[in-house]
Amino acid sequence: MKLVLATRNLGKVKELTAMLSPDGQRHNIQLLSLQDFPDAPEVVEDGETYQENAAKKAVVIADYTGLRTLADDAGIEVDALDGAPGVHSKRWAGDDATDAIRVQKLLEALEGKTNRTARFVAAIAIVEPIGVENPSCNRVQVVVGKCEGHITHAPAGDSGFGYDPIFVPVGYEKTFAELGDAIKNRISHRSEALRLALKLL
Ligand code: IMP
Repeated sequence: MKLVLATRNLGKVKELTAMLSPDGQRHNIQLLSLQDFPDAPEVVEDGETYQENAAKKAVVIADYTGLRTLADDAGIEVDALDGAPGVHSKRWAGDDATDAIRVQKLLEALEGKTNRTARFVAAIAIVEPIGVENPSCNRVQVVVGKCEGHITHAPAGDSGFGYDPIFVPVGYEKTFAELGDAIKNRISHRSEALRLALKLL
């Protein structure tokens, strides 16, 4: 079975590929990504929810490729910021911001706050194209995974991407970026969503 990962984020491609192929076994899934479709349309992530954005990305790419497609949309919700940046996690520090700038902005927003609890949330959408000529026939299914934790006072670790250097999951004392791929891929928001999504395939 062919499955297109509808993302240009190489960190996500790496994670999803590792999670979909433990021990090198790919469960009969041939993974493709947007690197295999360089002219695929850009999808504007303007939904109000992770689910909406994930479904939109998956539908657009499934329509373009005519292949079964998986897309995710994720964010970090910080309790002391009333759930921000949440669904706006990617753009809240500006369109051209780097991960380092986003991390810095979040640390500054939390300066002086004692409550640093937060969670990562990921929605994964699977779209099965039934007829490329009639995209409305696409079957869309969306699942959600979460990972609770807290935000540190300074970045630590080199692994992962995004906010990983400042997020410590519940039950651990190190950030996702320090814990490394193997642990993150077992307990993360995206791995929980992916486990649910795999049941749909
Ligand atoms: P999107 O899902 O690509 O829209 O990601 C939204 C924002 O959350 C981006 O800034 C990502 O870097 C960040 N993000 C999403 N998933 C993760 C993760 O697993 N770890 C750290 N940051 C993440």
